[in-house]
Amino acid sequence: MEREIIVVGAGPSGSTTATALAQKGHNVLLIDRQQFPRDKTCGDGIPAGAIEILYSLGMKERIQDAGFYPVTRILLSSPRGYVVEADLKPGKMGANSCVVPRTEFDALIQQYAVDSGVEFCQAQVKEPIIEDNRVVGVRATVNGNLQEIRAQAVVAADGVTSVVARTLRDDKQEDGHRAVALRTYITDIEENPHQVEFYLYHEILPGYAWIFPYGEGKANVGLGMRLDKFREIDSSLEDLVDIFLEMPEIKKRIRRGGELNDTAIWQLNFGSQPIKKAYSGALLVGDAAGLINPLTGGGIHNGLQSAVLASDVIHEALEKKDTSLKQLAVYDDLINENMKANMRKSYFLQRSLMRIPIWADLLIRWGGSNSDIANIFIDKL
Ligand SMILES: Cc1cc2nc3c(=O)[nH]c(=O)nc-3n(C[C@H](O)[C@H](O)[C@H](O)COP(=O)(O)OP(=O)(O)OC[C@H]3O[C@@H](n4cnc5c(N)ncnc54)[C@H](O)[C@@H]3O)c2cc1C
Repeated sequence: MEREIIVVGAGPSGSTTATALAQKGHNVLLIDRQQFPRDKTCGDGIPAGAIEILYSLGMKERIQDAGFYPVTRILLSSPRGYVVEADLKPGKMGANSCVVPRTEFDALIQQYAVDSGVEFCQAQVKEPIIEDNRVVGVRATVNGNLQEIRAQAVVAADGVTSVVARTLRDDKQEDGHRAVALRTYITDIEENPHQVEFYLYHEILPGYAWIFPYGEGKANVGLGMRLDKFREIDSSLEDLVDIFLEMPEIKKRIRRGGELNDTAIWQLNFGSQPIKKAYSGALLVGDAAGLINPLTGGGIHNGLQSAVLASDVIHEALEKKDTSLKQLAVYDDLINENMKANMRKSYFLQRSLMRIPIWADLLIRWGGSNSDIANIFIDKL
């Protein structure tokens, strides 16, 4: 049976694309290799802008009922220890940024997709089916059997290791536009309530360590580094986190020895490398489209924005019964209009910090919460 739309990957970008399309009256099959709830290695920092996109799809009540831990302050610390602190403004619809383990966040969005009429199927997509240079479906292992599932349009939302994007892209993500990051959970830290903390320091530039609390002494702690730079150093990410937690101002806040749980490492593809996101019969969204901010490492807000744009473009294409590249190419333009300027600025700052680390000190010391670097971090939360 031919489906109308297949969305591969039920993370925030995929589930949101699926919901938006179902709400426009389409028949959507949402595929993920995992059952939900499932973990996704992340800092768990969800910007207000992302929450507001979910509000606009009708999730306000569910999100408020879920009681996510709100964050209202940000702290940014420079290599020499200069600090800027600022209030985080709620979004236009009143949503706060928040910290919520992805196990919980992603399951809520995936369930909402199902409740909106999306059909969910646990399956491992192996590759897109391509005929006459056009994506016409996917090959996937369902209950141990390899099956062909055909559709008029396919959305790749299968994250940074996307098999769909890997098949369609004719370029590779370069190490200078990628990062590796480690996240872990700590349960006994003296938190600054409702404040997310970012620490830029020499050993990990361009990159940073973070402490994102979510109440009762619990926090998501981690750090990330640009991949080419990481390959040049001798330390592992685990060593670097130990160094971070041994810093006197952090160590004194850890109360009962600082046991770390669920430590995991994952990769990030930055939007600073421009890639094609529209193909004949298919669009890439979220991490599969490489939409992570190259300074902050945040990808959820961009992922949700891309989901909404993709759903609009696919809806129009299906109305016109034309999902050719000519019809879908407008998606690349829309992504550029909405994200290119911010990506460029973030990339420029990231490169400057690596070449002249003292920049971070100067920007934070003299620019305070009005500096470009602070603004980008504040903007993304
Ligand atoms: C350590 C770390 C910290 C981060 N911290 C933050 C943060 O605090 N805030 C922020 O905004 N961003 C953060 N990010 C980035 C953020 O995690 C991603 O941008 C976000 O998860 C993208 O969502 P997505 O839906 O596009 O992809 P994902 O969340 O990766 O979802 C992809 C889905 O596709 C499924 N899938 C993959 N392959 C297949 C397949 N072959 N077949 C079927 N299903 C498949 C997976 O199971 C998964 O459910 C961080 C990233 C890392 C690595």
